[in-house]
Amino acid sequence: MGQAENGKNRSGQNGAAEHFDVLIVGAGISGVGAGYHLTHQCPDKSFVIVEDQEDFGGTWLTHKYPGIRSDSDLHTFGYRFKPWVGPPIATADEIRTYMGEVIEENDLARHTRYQHKILTASWSEKDQRWTLSGVREDTDEPIAFTANFLWMCQGYYHHKEGYTPEWKGMDAFKGPIVHPQTWPEDLDYKDKKVVVIGSGATAATIIPAMANDCSHITMLQRSPTYFRPGRNEIEITEQLRELGIQEDWIHEITRKYILKEQDEFTRMCFEHPEDVKEELLNGVREYLGSDYDIKTHFTPKYLPWRQRLAFVPDGDIFQGIASGKASVVTDEIECFTEKGILLRSGETLEADIIITATGFDLSVLGDIAFTVDEKPVDFSDTVTYRGMMFTGLPNMVWVFGYFRASWTLRVDLLGDFVCRLLKHMDATGKTSVTPRLRPDEKDLPRLPWIDENNFNPGYMLRSMHLMPKRLDKREWQHTQDYWMEKDEFPEIDLEGDEFVYA
Ligand SMILES: Cc1cc2nc3c(=O)[nH]c(=O)nc-3n(C[C@H](O)[C@H](O)[C@H](O)COP(=O)(O)OP(=O)(O)OC[C@H]3O[C@@H](n4cnc5c(N)ncnc54)[C@H](O)[C@@H]3O)c2cc1C
Repeated sequence: MGQAENGKNRSGQNGAAEHFDVLIVGAGISGVGAGYHLTHQCPDKSFVIVEDQEDFGGTWLTHKYPGIRSDSDLHTFGYRFKPWVGPPIATADEIRTYMGEVIEENDLARHTRYQHKILTASWSEKDQRWTLSGVREDTDEPIAFTANFLWMCQGYYHHKEGYTPEWKGMDAFKGPIVHPQTWPEDLDYKDKKVVVIGSGATAATIIPAMANDCSHITMLQRSPTYFRPGRNEIEITEQLRELGIQEDWIHEITRKYILKEQDEFTRMCFEHPEDVKEELLNGVREYLGSDYDIKTHFTPKYLPWRQRLAFVPDGDIFQGIASGKASVVTDEIECFTEKGILLRSGETLEADIIITATGFDLSVLGDIAFTVDEKPVDFSDTVTYRGMMFTGLPNMVWVFGYFRASWTLRVDLLGDFVCRLLKHMDATGKTSVTPRLRPDEKDLPRLPWIDENNFNPGYMLRSMHLMPKRLDKREWQHTQDYWMEKDEFPEIDLEGDEFVYA
């Protein structure tokens, strides 16, 4: 563990800065994975995981709405090093149990500080280290750390509050307006009329989970989303289990199988989007029948995979609609009223409870105020190195996963990269590494973090101006392409001229 710089205080509190080789911000799936990789690949490095919330899990701790579950399979959303043995789509509790086992099996708890929020991070070129300050959420005491390397695993959105648009008349509505991210545990929806605003994975999860208890639940959407219904079971996995194959083999084989299938599917989406569209709509038709107005309610305006595509286990939302317990309205909101929502079409949706499944509020690097030699860092002035490092920012990596593949695939990939980089720096006697544009790259156009024709979820489009920039070159962007990165990352030349060492 780290040593307090004044020799007295071990907890990083009361202004006494405790020093670590590596400081990881966040104890979600990324931070716990980073801790695992450091433990196994760089066992001599001291490290701490600093987490704002009272426990591990990140996304899977924050979200407590009914039915909360993954939309990725857990063979790829799980780590490569720990077999997933349950059904592929998992609940938040199951994911946290799995993460808890990783923490326990690798003795990560002793490295983790909960209810510690980092507020500032300052790099000193002279000292070749980061100084971090923050606050304990439970006692309000100040905390301070120093670290050689920062591994940012703080996710990409504000955990305390979701994004809710402002609609006219919200104050007039008499019932509760609830965002799924801040779900009140005592919310009573038994026999109530519920309207869920939104059409994404969250709405599609909440609706079937609540449908049997409400008197009726309506999904109110401005425009539809693609869904991919299917069984919550993978045939090859079940066959291997029947043969008594050991779970670590099953995990590896299932991962390979899923990744091949996803690769083909993603390619099909770009090469034959109309065919994929038809295939997806047929999946919906199977549940709702040919009389249902699929064109209005389930045919998105965008092409498949331009926004996250939600897998729907056993088509449960469609089953709810087919049974009459749930329905879909595609319209725009004119205003809220005392008793519900008045739509542009003139129709009124009566509601006792309104749920705003309207998405996230993007947070760039955990809202931490960064400085480099006392100069404030504006991340939108930086260019990203492969969606993980930033020009002018020494000794720092951010884990930002994939949109079209499980986030955790990148946690493992970056785990290998960071550990290789740290070992390379030790072997060459260097204390810092900073990405920089080559002279012929400096004047290239700086483009937004992602190409909105490629992927365009609302939370990204709302806040893209705050994100680092990309160049139209492979190593200066987050390619969102796991299949390419898995081969390229292990081959990155750490002595390349895009890295400046000191
Ligand atoms: C409901 C929901 C379902 C999802 N399902 C999937 C899925 O099926 N597949 C998939 O690939 N992706 C999914 N995602 C995306 C998901 O967020 C990521 O896959 C992944 O969980 C992110 O993990 P993370 O550890 O990087 O970040 P997070 O889970 O966001 O965890 C970051 C942690 O860092 C802490 N933190 C932030 N700032 C600070 C600070 N300044 N100081 C201290 N601590 C800080 C936060 O409190 C949080 O606990 C889903 C997202 C949501 C919201």
